[in-house]
Amino acid sequence: MTTSRYALITGASRGIGRAIALRLAADGYHILLNYQTNRSAAEAVLNDIRTGGGDGTLLPFDVTDPEAVEQAIDTWRQQHPDSYISLLVNNAGIRHDDLLMWMSGDNWHRVLSTTLDGFFHVTRALLQEMLVRKWGRIINIASLSGLSGMPGQTNYSAAKGGLIAATKSLAREVARKHVTVNAIAPGFIRTDMTSDLDETTLKKTIPAGRFGEAEEVAHLVSFLASDHASYITGEVISIDGGLS
Ligand code: NDP
Repeated sequence: MTTSRYALITGASRGIGRAIALRLAADGYHILLNYQTNRSAAEAVLNDIRTGGGDGTLLPFDVTDPEAVEQAIDTWRQQHPDSYISLLVNNAGIRHDDLLMWMSGDNWHRVLSTTLDGFFHVTRALLQEMLVRKWGRIINIASLSGLSGMPGQTNYSAAKGGLIAATKSLAREVARKHVTVNAIAPGFIRTDMTSDLDETTLKKTIPAGRFGEAEEVAHLVSFLASDHASYITGEVISIDGGLS
């Protein structure tokens, strides 16, 4: 049985994170809804959660800033001394595509930091309690790009490939304490992040013939978070319409 029902989702104000927040709220979790700057979008997600009969709390911080992460989580803990966050979805991510030859140092570091430092800061902050309570779920949103590589995305592929490797190592560290760690590798999902892409051309390359929906990723998160997925850990599950 799940001993606590608090789920922290990074980057939950839009896109895939938003859909995950709504899905997990419907599953009965109280959602700790993280975002970076877009407060109005985050508030709209919280309203949607409440309209659906669920509840949540806004928890803004920049995942790349270790002090901001610690402070937000410590404050929440002080207000909830008898609870713990048993489910973490490391979803916050950005892309700044360029050919490596032209890539700025800033675009390299920002993309890697959001995915890898973000994973490190938030996971480290929550892991100990999951181990002590002997139940936890960590789900990392990686990408097809981190498995097979994409031209123009050397930074993003490196970040997501690193996240996949970190998923596998951490899964081995914590499996005995009933904490599972898995990664999801979406292909093309219709969100703000892919709104600049030529969907008509790209979908011809996808066996399923379409982009995926954020809700489809959210259902996979819901399953991995459940007790039914207790024996799945260290895995990377693709959700890409057959593209990989
Ligand atoms: P969106 O661009 O639609 O949303 C990104 C979210 O991340 C926003 O909520 C944003 O917050 C948040 N965010 C960005 N940087 C930070 C930060 N430093 N700290 C906290 N929050 C941050 O992206 P998607 O929903 O498309 O993508 C979600 C995840 O899925 C990403 O990791 C992405 O790499 C991955 N993915 C997406 C695919 C796709 O096709 N869409 C395919 C494969 C993987 P705010 O609103 O405040 O800016």
